Amino acid sequence: MAQRTLALLGASGSIGGSTLAVVAAHPDRLRIASLGARANWRSLIAAARAHRVGVVALADPKAAAEARASGEFAPGTRILEGEAGMTEAACLPEVDVVVSAIVGTGGLRPTLAAIRAGKAIALASKEILVLAGAAVTAEARARGAALLPVDSEHNALHQLLRGKAPAEIARLILTASGGPFRTRPLDSLADVAPEDALRHPNWSMGPKITVDSATMANKGLELIEARWLFGMPPERLGVVIHPQSVIHALVELTDGTLQAQMSPPSMAYPIQDALLHPDRPPCPAPRLDLTQTLGLELLPPDSARYPLLGLALDAARAGGALPAAFNAANEVAVAAFLGRRLRFTDIARVVERVLASSAAGDDTLDAALAADAEARRKAKEAVGSLAR
Ligand code: MG
Repeated sequence: MAQRTLALLGASGSIGGSTLAVVAAHPDRLRIASLGARANWRSLIAAARAHRVGVVALADPKAAAEARASGEFAPGTRILEGEAGMTEAACLPEVDVVVSAIVGTGGLRPTLAAIRAGKAIALASKEILVLAGAAVTAEARARGAALLPVDSEHNALHQLLRGKAPAEIARLILTASGGPFRTRPLDSLADVAPEDALRHPNWSMGPKITVDSATMANKGLELIEARWLFGMPPERLGVVIHPQSVIHALVELTDGTLQAQMSPPSMAYPIQDALLHPDRPPCPAPRLDLTQTLGLELLPPDSARYPLLGLALDAARAGGALPAAFNAANEVAVAAFLGRRLRFTDIARVVERVLASSAAGDDTLDAALAADAEARRKAKEAVGSLAR
């Protein structure tokens, strides 16, 4: 395989760190041309030096000015700023693959620009497909730009679907760990504190996604993403709880056969597949130990425990800009919960109220961004009226 050159947008986050480890394990196959982050420039210094990166982009202009003045980056390093800088870092001529892992909507336009420039996208940022799934997938098709999912479940589905005809596929099933409160008495969920929700049993991730994993809002967003990535209507997507996080997804074939993809719960596996497919060198992460009992369980999700999963499916079915509204309302509610201004069980109430007062509208990027802003405003009102 020829060496692939990456732009890593979201380099300071959890996916960014795992990506750097995968690149370091395969220096003959992968190199990094540019690093992007929202504002945390200090976290980029070591990676920029280790990977001899020539271009650094910071969405926050103040952070870019600090980074330039710091003298911490090698002489000659270009430090770009704002959305335009992020877009330039993604679209450098030598870049083959853009790792799109910026949390929030900041990665949307740079990623769309990279697709238009024909770059392959290793997609980790949820907002891109939740807000702009129709626009992004249509553009990628038109430009012949590959969308390679990084998220463990979608990457597993991508692996399972290789070599299969669409006519063989009945349903796609994502697994969910069920989070830390899977067996906690339902009537005690209202008393959950942020520090309880931040203790994820299997994965180490950022605080927002860890809370989303406890409520299963994360799985709801992943259903919406799967719909666009694999061109599947919501009624052919399913979720099953699998507390061990070893099976990442299943495909149900038309004859009733199920095929599962398994790997240890380390993001190095899906990231490496997204970056190196079709090559499959050994992954720099622990392997499953089959001399130990795995005790894998598969359980149906309980809708009373995880109301956000049903709300996400409703939003996916209604389409238009409702998935964007779901995402924005959830983000505001989770921030309020983490700030101890909202009960855990009221996260779903906030989202439900916002969705009930939102119209689907159309599914353009502009409509999604407008719905995002409107849903944030409504969610803040709802948080205010439910505040503890
Ligand atoms: Mg996932």
